[in-house]
Amino acid sequence: MILSTMQDFPLSVAAILRHGARVYGRSECVTWTGGGAPRRATFAQIAGNAERLASALAGLGVRPGDRVATFCWNNQEHLEAYFAVPAMGAVLHTLNIRLFPEQLSHIINHADDQVVIVDDTLVPLLARVVHELPAVEAFVVVGDGDASALEANANGAPVLRYHTLLAAEEPGYAWPEVDERSAASMCYTSGTTGDPKGVVYSHRSTFLHAMAVQSASLVGITEADRVLTIVPMFHVNAWGLPYGAFLSGATLHMPGPFMQPEHLAKFIAAERSTLASAVPTIWNGILALGEREEIDLSSLRAGTSGGAAAPRVLLERFERRYGLRIIQGWGMTETSPLGGMAFPPPGVEPGTDEDMYWRLKSGRVAAGVEMRIVDDSGAELPWDGESVGEIEVRGPWITGAYHRDPAPGKFDDGWLRTGDIGTIDDRGFYQITDRAKDVIKSGGEWISSVELENHLMAHPAVAEAAVIGVPDARWDERPLACVVLRPEASAAPAELASFLADKVARWQVPEYWTFLDEIPKTTVGKFDKKPLRARHRDAALEIEHVER
Ligand code: ADP
Repeated sequence: MILSTMQDFPLSVAAILRHGARVYGRSECVTWTGGGAPRRATFAQIAGNAERLASALAGLGVRPGDRVATFCWNNQEHLEAYFAVPAMGAVLHTLNIRLFPEQLSHIINHADDQVVIVDDTLVPLLARVVHELPAVEAFVVVGDGDASALEANANGAPVLRYHTLLAAEEPGYAWPEVDERSAASMCYTSGTTGDPKGVVYSHRSTFLHAMAVQSASLVGITEADRVLTIVPMFHVNAWGLPYGAFLSGATLHMPGPFMQPEHLAKFIAAERSTLASAVPTIWNGILALGEREEIDLSSLRAGTSGGAAAPRVLLERFERRYGLRIIQGWGMTETSPLGGMAFPPPGVEPGTDEDMYWRLKSGRVAAGVEMRIVDDSGAELPWDGESVGEIEVRGPWITGAYHRDPAPGKFDDGWLRTGDIGTIDDRGFYQITDRAKDVIKSGGEWISSVELENHLMAHPAVAEAAVIGVPDARWDERPLACVVLRPEASAAPAELASFLADKVARWQVPEYWTFLDEIPKTTVGKFDKKPLRARHRDAALEIEHVER
């Protein structure tokens, strides 16, 4: 072997921070306050605060490798922690604020979090579990709100104020040189399909993923952008946008606790966001608001959607009503998360059926990610757009293990088994048809619940639809359509079934129907099918039957 002459320069979060602060020191983080003037800080100020925060954390005894958790909305202080904690060599653990108390205490203890930074508005939620956190040595509260609920139960751990701590420090923390393979941050899977598992990102994976996020074949952000980060910062690093913004100079718009469509729309209009990223249910909420009142989305040049399949009708309505192109991406906690985005290939006219065909793909394999599909026996399937199998991925920002959890069944000879079922075509566009746990196998043939849901949600009377497989004596399993109707709309099962009949093969049309007030959602706002299955098992759903 002949060694290269290149410098062995570590890829690190500190390098991302230095770049943003130096080159794009005037770009901003704007935090929405719900009515009054938004809070603004430049990247240079964020960097100064990150240095102060690192000094304060070091003063609390945080050493390289120690875990510092955040229990926060998307806001300026959360961004400061995103940089300070990894850059000082500690590990940022972003906690999902919507977890059940038992899950929350489990993952804080499993990760051995030593310090927890918490927004004052979230103190009551954290206080519910604080007596179960023996290893936490200090709590740091952001904001001046009441923290007595924490103080009362903190077992002697000090409850400190973020702004007081920072005010006592000077900027100028000397970031240590870190091994690029060492841990920078961690995030637990939301446990939609099992117990939460810890994924630990390295400095190297974070840097490479951030480079990819800002590149034009993925999200593609520049200094001219103002990026509304609706996806929570506890949901897989807000899809890499904060780090991508520091590499590209894009201004960040942070909604804080104001996640309601009314606030998001006001934020976009007031601050002229150019790009927004959210899961489909949030996009749906914005559309529904737009049906009730006039909203101004004219500043948005694009939107991104991920975390679950975006229904066709969602993409179409945004395009028709607001001229807004929403591009889908696919990823998971285990993949940092970006695995690919579904930009149509060149030559496709925007707004045409062909354009929609490509945009309904789940993504196109990102540079830096390798993908394959395998059948039940583990044999690789062709990239023909038709063969259906489990998607497996590998690459520098794909996890190769879980934190203190070997989970051998999740890996296949160096590849991560995603648990997603789909196809890949000869240009690397892939389509997720289902999660392995959601697939419906009727008489030995697969029915895509995602496809049925997407068609159903295009019916004018339907607000939401989730399809689950239910046991069937003759076919093993058949689809049960769980439907939420729009306010004041009505549609009988037979009408919805005939609406589907010319869109999917006849045998795929559900004969079992139930009408609900709402589809249950996961902690990050995706349709949650687990409770629907449980309610069906307990015979708690009122089912209507349509002859096939
Ligand atoms: P959880 O696994 O708890 O839902 P993640 O946020 O890691 O938490 O979810 C990753 C999963 O979300 C993927 O495995 C896939 O099933 C689903 N997903 C993400 N993006 C898309 C997409 N564009 N289309 C369809 N499914 C998606």
